[in-house]
Amino acid sequence: MYVKPQGGALPQPLGILAAMAVEGQAIEAALAVPQSRVILGRPVVSGLLKGHRVLLAYGGVGKVNAALAVAALADAGAAAIVLVGTAGGLAAGLKTGDAVVATDLIQHDVDVTAFGRPAGFIDGEMAGGSADADLSDRLVAAVTQIGQTVRRGRIASGDQFVASQIRSREIADQFDAVAVEMEGAAAAQAARQLGLPLAVLRWVSDGADDQAADDFPKFLAHIADLDLAAVKAMIV
Ligand code: SAH
Repeated sequence: MYVKPQGGALPQPLGILAAMAVEGQAIEAALAVPQSRVILGRPVVSGLLKGHRVLLAYGGVGKVNAALAVAALADAGAAAIVLVGTAGGLAAGLKTGDAVVATDLIQHDVDVTAFGRPAGFIDGEMAGGSADADLSDRLVAAVTQIGQTVRRGRIASGDQFVASQIRSREIADQFDAVAVEMEGAAAAQAARQLGLPLAVLRWVSDGADDQAADDFPKFLAHIADLDLAAVKAMIV
């Protein structure tokens, strides 16, 4: 079970989880004494960032990959996990490049409502969970420090790249979610079951609307530097 560090220090080694290589490549390039290995089929690079011990995992896209990557980081000895990457913005007023830090996360594609269960509930629990409050506060402070706009709220995750105004409205309304992506809630569920604190930082790459498939790849040019700047700013 996680015990909060004395004196409010950032946990270490700090696990950083990126679905795609492009999302973590600037962090990886900034690591001192980098060492790579493969755990549960995914690359995990350990090293020092501003002297802080870091474990960077490339998990792959989607919920199964996210859960395995959390397990890989737990196996590697991570004391906490920060998931970084992009999301489609759902909340009014969110702009491309704004940050979203999750308060809590839910799998929008988990559905046993046929048995009278609430949407997103399966096997006795909600599919997702709360983000760690302390790590999330640190993320909000870090994003603010690097001069980016940040919003807190619920993130919905599912094995679907949402690229339709109709579908994104459904998810926003059904789950009161501010952003949608493909890993966060699965990572949160896995981290909760493994007793690891986890926080989620997403940069809005698109509006999860009919233009999303065009907007998303264009935004990838910025993602590596934003992730690095935020994680560095977290490490005081
Ligand atoms: N480029 C990959 C697919 C990436 S899927 C391929 O070619 O196969 C999109 C990734 O960005 C996921 O990791 C997801 O978490 C995030 N994402 C960004 N915008 C999203 C959206 N509108 N819907 C769902 N996930 C989104």
